[in-house]
Amino acid sequence: MTHLKKRASALALALLCALPLSACGGGKAPAAESTAPESSAPSQTPEPEPTAPAVPLVPWGTDQVVEHLFFHPLVAYPELAFDGDSEANGIDDYMVTVDEYNKILQHCYDNNYILVNMNDVWSEYTTENGETRMRRNTLMLPEGKKPLVISYDDTNYYPYMLDNGFTWKLILGDDGEIWSYGKDPQGKEVISQDLDAITILDKFVEEHPDFSLNGVKGCLSLTGYQGILGYRTQTDTDHPEAEFEANRQKEIAAVKPIVQKLKETGWYFGSHTWGHVRLSTISDERLQRDTQRWFDEVGSLVGPTQILFYPHGARPDGDHDQREPGPQFKYLQSKGFRIFASVGINSYEQVKKQISAVIIDRLHPDGTTLRWRRKDYLQFYDTWDIIDLDVRPNRAYDRNPNGPK
Ligand SMILES: [Zn+2]
Repeated sequence: MTHLKKRASALALALLCALPLSACGGGKAPAAESTAPESSAPSQTPEPEPTAPAVPLVPWGTDQVVEHLFFHPLVAYPELAFDGDSEANGIDDYMVTVDEYNKILQHCYDNNYILVNMNDVWSEYTTENGETRMRRNTLMLPEGKKPLVISYDDTNYYPYMLDNGFTWKLILGDDGEIWSYGKDPQGKEVISQDLDAITILDKFVEEHPDFSLNGVKGCLSLTGYQGILGYRTQTDTDHPEAEFEANRQKEIAAVKPIVQKLKETGWYFGSHTWGHVRLSTISDERLQRDTQRWFDEVGSLVGPTQILFYPHGARPDGDHDQREPGPQFKYLQSKGFRIFASVGINSYEQVKKQISAVIIDRLHPDGTTLRWRRKDYLQFYDTWDIIDLDVRPNRAYDRNPNGPK
């Protein structure tokens, strides 16, 4: 496991989520299905329906890396995102475009990755002393495949994004499927499945079923302060009036079937804290208030989760979660969180010995890494094949063929 514990010094680069984005969570994936029909049936029995060829399942050991990539919402309209306004460079740093995302998915698929559910990677058990701890599970994967988790931070469709080239919300189409709603640069309403990270992955898995283990998709990391999934489900102490509350209840009713459909189609949820708070500097009192508010306003809609994604990548107790668990880490663990996800330069994991918890880092496909971290991503894709310099701002990038170390 030593290679998993390796940490790099460039973490500062990766302390992300500088934009007020939201988060991911966790649900449970269905149990693995058996692989393929047996071919040894007696000759009298009817021919089986034609199916995909059998691929044997083989173990992915507990000392092998489970890679983890995370995305922010996608830039659907680069001309709105990269229009030179005050947000353009932040969007360049932390987002990828639809075209870049499509290429990233294809390259991950071509490199034999298969999506797995974070909740299947580790599980809790009881020790001989009657204490609970987490441990890595052996995954059973189709031969030749490598496990990949994808999470999506800040899938809240924040108001600031609406005129910056992002989709506005998820909706259920007349066909009962998930679509995105938004407006194009001319102000025309657009309902699509080709402009949003969630619907694009849905389509990709439909076309490439072997990109997903049992249909799992990704983890949606949600804050709560501006609602979820494009619906304004949050309370607001500035607006305690009945009219605000009535609208909030309408939004809650509207988002529930969306959440339900996402869960049915392989998506799962995690907390990104209610207020996108910086856990390294937050007071105990505010942390408790924020956590309760997340359960009240987000957990009540998406269900229980054991996954917490640190906003800004900032770790609790003054950035100390890699050492002895501190009081804030213990508090969050006592509220049910078991998988604590930050951001880094590799898919690091540390199963805690002193408490039932695991801390992990995620890689972050975005403008900063497309421009500067080519080598760290070569197992997934070559950044030079991905980055769309025609639409991004004219900013520096690494042109060294060997990439930075
Ligand atoms: Zn965030």
